[in-house]
Amino acid sequence: MKILHTVDETRAACRLGKRDGALLGFVPTMGALHEGHLSLVRAARSQAGFVVASIFVNPLQFGPQEDFNRYPRTLERDSRLLESEGVDLLFAPATEEMYPATAGPQSSVASRRPEKQEEIDAPLDYRQPTFVEVPGLSEKLEGRIRPGHFRGVTTVVSKLFHILEPDIAFFGQKDAQQAVIIQRMVDDLNLPTRIVVCPTVREADGLALSSRNVYLNPQQRQAATVLYRALMRVRALAKAGERSAADLSAAGREIITAEPMARLDYFEVIHPQTLDPIGEILDGALVVTAAYFGKTRLIDNLVLHVN
Ligand code: AMP
Repeated sequence: MKILHTVDETRAACRLGKRDGALLGFVPTMGALHEGHLSLVRAARSQAGFVVASIFVNPLQFGPQEDFNRYPRTLERDSRLLESEGVDLLFAPATEEMYPATAGPQSSVASRRPEKQEEIDAPLDYRQPTFVEVPGLSEKLEGRIRPGHFRGVTTVVSKLFHILEPDIAFFGQKDAQQAVIIQRMVDDLNLPTRIVVCPTVREADGLALSSRNVYLNPQQRQAATVLYRALMRVRALAKAGERSAADLSAAGREIITAEPMARLDYFEVIHPQTLDPIGEILDGALVVTAAYFGKTRLIDNLVLHVN
């Protein structure tokens, strides 16, 4: 497996990888890899001849109060895992490589207004990045609590798509809203990449794998299974014939609020494309939830099948 850190080398290596007509399959990640990420790599391996993964903790998608600095970074271990899964190329750029001369939202420079004329006249040694934004969808659910998050995601994913030119890109159902937004971006911008969404990989007790699970203490880790239990309850009720989205979400909320270590953020039954709340459930409706366990915010979701 080749490991590259620069845009130019990566672009060249990807073009070379595709030269004999091989499809390029791409798995973007922020590292701290687990079985969820590896399931995407395996899907890529099965559908593409040249597999590229990226590891980049993207500052643009973290809010100022979020965990950008303490987000787990385990590049050596990650690259061993990717190599053993047969990845051909790992792109692991530094922040400056992706956002040269850019003072991101983390920077006090970017948010500071020049106060004196000399400052206004001074040559800019920083600039705001160009953003790619999917309005509407990006402000709902996660976007309500994390303003700017999806703008950061769509910006970095479109940059990565332009660098790698993937034929197929693989995302996890775990981040359901992200997958919907990326698909919309690809449709709206006529990008030539096909998006494949892979099922959520879970621990034996149902907790969705997440790089953030390492923040949980043993009690919180135990309590966090409540998300899955609530989703399963909704699935069972829907299977038994319940069609009211309000009643289904009320049942899910009740289970999560009964867990003293959980602080519920939202639990909603929504339309899988518009992400808006629905009245009656339809096939493919999404049940989405987010809750805090201590300071750690976890998300999970379920696709409802109705027939
Ligand atoms: P991240 O490194 O958290 O940005 O995630 C990179 C990709 O892995 C995203 O497409 C996620 O949706 C996906 N992913 C994260 N956790 C899981 C999981 N438990 N199962 C499946 N895919 C996942």
